[in-house]
Amino acid sequence: MTNFADNYGSMVYNDHTMKELLPKDTYKTLTKTIKDGAPLDIEVANVVAHSMKEWAISKGATHYTHWFQPLSGITSEKHDGFLEPVSDGTAITKFSGKELIQGEPDASSFPNGGLRATFEARGYTAWDPTSYPFIKDEVLCIPTAFCSYTGEALDKKTPLLRSMNAIDEQAKRVLTHFGETPKRVNTTVGAEQEYFLISEKDYAARQDLILTGRTLFGHKPVKGQELEEHYFGAIRPTVNNFMKELDDELWALGVSAKTKHNEVAPAQHELAPIFANSNSAIDQNLLTMEKMRLLASHHGLVCLLHEKPFEGVNGSGKHNNWSISYDSTNLLDPGDNPMENLRFLVFLTAVIEAVDEYQELLRMSVASAGNDHRLGANEAPPAIISIFLGDELGAVVDSLINGTDYVASAKQAMDLGVAVLPKFTMDNTDRNRTSPFAFTGNKFEFRMPGSEVNLSDANMILNTAMAKSLKNFADAMEGKEGDDFHTAALVYIKKTLTDHQRIIFNGDGYSDEWPEEAARRGLANHKNTAEALPCLVDPKSIELFGEFGVLSESEVRSRYEVKLEKYSKLLNIEANTMIRQARRMYIPAINNYMGELASDVTAVKAVIDADTTAQETLLKRLSAGLAAAYDAVDQLEIKHNAAQAVEDAQQRANMYANTVIPAMDALRNIIDDLECITDHDYWPVPTYNDMLFYC
Ligand code: ADP
Ligand code: MG
Repeated sequence: MTNFADNYGSMVYNDHTMKELLPKDTYKTLTKTIKDGAPLDIEVANVVAHSMKEWAISKGATHYTHWFQPLSGITSEKHDGFLEPVSDGTAITKFSGKELIQGEPDASSFPNGGLRATFEARGYTAWDPTSYPFIKDEVLCIPTAFCSYTGEALDKKTPLLRSMNAIDEQAKRVLTHFGETPKRVNTTVGAEQEYFLISEKDYAARQDLILTGRTLFGHKPVKGQELEEHYFGAIRPTVNNFMKELDDELWALGVSAKTKHNEVAPAQHELAPIFANSNSAIDQNLLTMEKMRLLASHHGLVCLLHEKPFEGVNGSGKHNNWSISYDSTNLLDPGDNPMENLRFLVFLTAVIEAVDEYQELLRMSVASAGNDHRLGANEAPPAIISIFLGDELGAVVDSLINGTDYVASAKQAMDLGVAVLPKFTMDNTDRNRTSPFAFTGNKFEFRMPGSEVNLSDANMILNTAMAKSLKNFADAMEGKEGDDFHTAALVYIKKTLTDHQRIIFNGDGYSDEWPEEAARRGLANHKNTAEALPCLVDPKSIELFGEFGVLSESEVRSRYEVKLEKYSKLLNIEANTMIRQARRMYIPAINNYMGELASDVTAVKAVIDADTTAQETLLKRLSAGLAAAYDAVDQLEIKHNAAQAVEDAQQRANMYANTVIPAMDALRNIIDDLECITDHDYWPVPTYNDMLFYC
């Protein structure tokens, strides 16, 4: 039997493959491009393309595709064959450097937020050589960026790559003060992915799940997660088989799936990979989600990636573990000597400044109709951004602000900036699970992203905001060296931490007091997507993106349009589905049951003089519920039509958030209550109990 590790990356045109297959010179040039971001010329691309094609064909591939991430966030692909017929009736295979580097998909049907006139339907895809090509279902997939004919970004990847360049440039400026001159500073991401698995049979019976990804009706299950028996519990055999196949496929694709376990909610699970550079990590996360969806069907299961498929049951998130590093140096790792500590404090301070300054943008980056059911909706984490540092690091920051000596847990006083900071272990930093942005020893964990989101936006914002803080620092330290720099840096750190300390919160993020306290501190609390999106087009945001060449003003505006539109469109589908289902499934089902009850009462009375008060009471309750349901559907329809009629996209989104959603909730509550008093056999869909506790 071959070792399963041998299979790892077998379907990836990775460094190992390149080294083996490419001529030495070509390999050197290509690695320079990959590691240092140097441009790639066409001759080199031709050689690489030929080698890539031969390799792909040897692995069974017949087609190639430029694999990209339009503004919808999901991945897109169009397959082109390697085959090229020649005049004598036979065929050869062909794949040129130009085809590798650039593609021209007809892009007219991708969201563009008004960036591209319809008469100019062409878009360009351009290879991102820093994310390895791979073979998926006999297709060579080339990770690419996607832009319009006029060069504006139409995808999620381009601004992410630009933000990585921005942070690289500014971090290098900062590092020169520490005598460090790395070729490339990178940001890293480890995306922990939560998901639900339910049986295909139940899924097929739920139109709401099929059409919207979540249950629009359904009373919460009799048993929830209160027994805490699912978290890390033994994994069901069917689920285990699914996870095994998923691991095998992901490993072959070079996705370092590392940890798998059951999550807190029944039928909920998690997969965590080993972190990678942000762009690769995000590509890998998208692949992971795709494979989860596809492979579940091999096991009679359906994978739900929606942030809140079941109301009243824990939702699914995607924790974005994030750090900055070069070679093997993690810049968010406290060091072993005073200068490394100072460097750590500089980067830590920059994170605190970045997150405080651009808290609204960060919150915006994870706003979606689905995630609104998690953030700020009595679930973790709240919609308010704050940073958790833990006791030790919190105490370090306090002493820096107050100018006092820091007393470590070992009760030894230390003079900050001269002594060695303690290593902040996971154990004493990771206890707070309620924080949206937590320091976890040598990285930060952003816990707000929802399970379904493409993490590019969040990381693009994080990186750009961080580039801005690093730039502020580098500008202030210009020309300062040695002790002069040391002293100035500590003064700068103290001032910046003092200015931004409001963002630090080590307490319980779920407590009722926190939103009040946060309001006193002036922290933003955008409760839903409609409220969260406008900050994207604030002059402050446009200036930030412009300053670092991450997004032009028209690119920012187009993204805002696309996000608004997506939000309203999703809610439109949800409202329509609810109306349809209430009228055509739930109300008739309840009616049928009432019909049976009524004839039972008559039948019983015809035989004996029985007391049928109980049945009659039930009938009355059902009947009153039904009347309320009829009314609630009408109300929802009225509100929905009114929202639909609004021209302005922001106003329309506001209407959905403030009037349509409450009407949807009202209808749902009525039907869910009726579910509890209707005969199970009459209920037209599988209930939460059925769906969440399968074998
Ligand atoms: P947890 O207790 O949350 O499981 P882990 O340390 O196991 O903590 O890591 C969680 C995730 O963080 C993993 O995906 C891991 O690869 C990732 N991670 C670890 N170090 C870094 C880093 N320097 N940058 C980005 N992600 C990281
Ligand atoms: Mg985590």
